[in-house]
Amino acid sequence: MNKITNHLPTAELQALDAAHHMHPFSCNDEIAKKGARVITRADGVFLTDSDGNEILDAMAGLWCVNIGYGRDELAEAAARQMRELPYYNTFFQTTTAPTIALAQKLAELAPGDLNHVFFGNSGSDANDTNIRLVRTYWAWKGQPERTIIVARKNAYHGSSVGSGSLGGMAYMHDVNSMPIPDIVHIDQPHWWAEGGDSTPEEFGLQTARALEAVIEEHGAERIAAFIGEPIQGAGGVIIPPETYWPEIQRICRKYDILLIADEVICGFGRTGNWFGSQTLGIEPDVMTVAKGLSSGYQPISASIVSDKVAKVMDGSDFFHGYTYSGHPVACAVALENLRILEDENIIDHVRNVAAPAMKAAWESLSDHPIVGDTRIEGLMGSLALTPDKTTRAKFATPEGTVGLICRENSFANNLVMRHVGDRMVISPPLVITPDEIKILITRARKALDDTYAHLKANDMLKSAAPGTASMKAKNF
Ligand SMILES: *Cc1c(COP(=O)(O)O)cnc(C)c1O
Repeated sequence: MNKITNHLPTAELQALDAAHHMHPFSCNDEIAKKGARVITRADGVFLTDSDGNEILDAMAGLWCVNIGYGRDELAEAAARQMRELPYYNTFFQTTTAPTIALAQKLAELAPGDLNHVFFGNSGSDANDTNIRLVRTYWAWKGQPERTIIVARKNAYHGSSVGSGSLGGMAYMHDVNSMPIPDIVHIDQPHWWAEGGDSTPEEFGLQTARALEAVIEEHGAERIAAFIGEPIQGAGGVIIPPETYWPEIQRICRKYDILLIADEVICGFGRTGNWFGSQTLGIEPDVMTVAKGLSSGYQPISASIVSDKVAKVMDGSDFFHGYTYSGHPVACAVALENLRILEDENIIDHVRNVAAPAMKAAWESLSDHPIVGDTRIEGLMGSLALTPDKTTRAKFATPEGTVGLICRENSFANNLVMRHVGDRMVISPPLVITPDEIKILITRARKALDDTYAHLKANDMLKSAAPGTASMKAKNF
């Protein structure tokens, strides 16, 4: 049997990693120079690395470990299911019991008449499913010209060719012939960075009405769907102005355009409700879920569609699917995860305990000299690093320079906080306690202090000239 290499000395693990492992969203040469951080164990909200450091994971992995680490029940659910039936597919008129149970559970949890579930293995492939699904839907309804999907700049919907095309991160499109045809990107509702002199409310309406402008330009008979994250996650936890989603909803209804809510981060309690759509008052026709569906313990995703959409889709063969669609082990683990979320009232804990404590603590950081725009909804939050919060200025250094410094300082203080450009973001496990929130904020403040000291010492507190283009550096 191959030995699990967790327990080799750190330097050996790092050398092997550098020699053979190509990291996602990374420059491998850079990692090789300093050695990847090796995580060996985790429990609750804390990670342990191969040097024995205990690190508070304020990102819940990649926004996904909603119930926290170390839940044996999920390991047992996986082992039980593997012994009974490790795999069978759901093609060719077959199914398995955990697949059925999870589909039924998701239909029960999802709002409105979202009652029909198509399974995948990742958020990316679920959004690829959605591209094919909404275009097929319109074709089968006799409107095959409805192929355009409207998405937003700086959105994140995954990294496959399809989902990455829906996403609005230009540096992912360069050199890859992306986006694929018939994807149109409109501006994001990011008031702090792009709102200029308008109020947040005005800016929310203005960015939503860009959807109407696209519809008028191309004709409603060409538009299949609009896709958006209720709150943009990887783009920097952009919480839209309150005017935004109602206007998007109104426009979708008016022109009979399908609304896809990408709930991959917002779903399963992140915003204090089961789904971000409930928090933001969205009534989608299609929902993408992944991440918190299994708290990351198994790779699984789904597209959940309304009765209206299913009625059309159920009428013919939809030539689409993945070998592991509805995988029984992943479904059994997801079911156990949902059981824990329900039985332990974790979403009530977010709404009534963790989110209020985190909001007060997070907003208290706004007194820091380089912090502006502390925003948080449920347990996803962000803040802008800025040399001048009164003018919402950017730093003169390339965007992301200061954010990266702050992220490194955060790691050095045993806190995982991510940077997106010069925004810092958090999305901790939902089970985080008020005491752990205090630790998180103490470490975050220390990271901010260290960053401020570095900027001062290196004469880096200068503002960029107003109107300097946004988002040049890497987001990840
Ligand atoms: C992470 C993410 C995805 C992609 O999910 P993968 O499992 O990484 O493919 C899609 N949409 C959103 C909103 C995400 O945050």
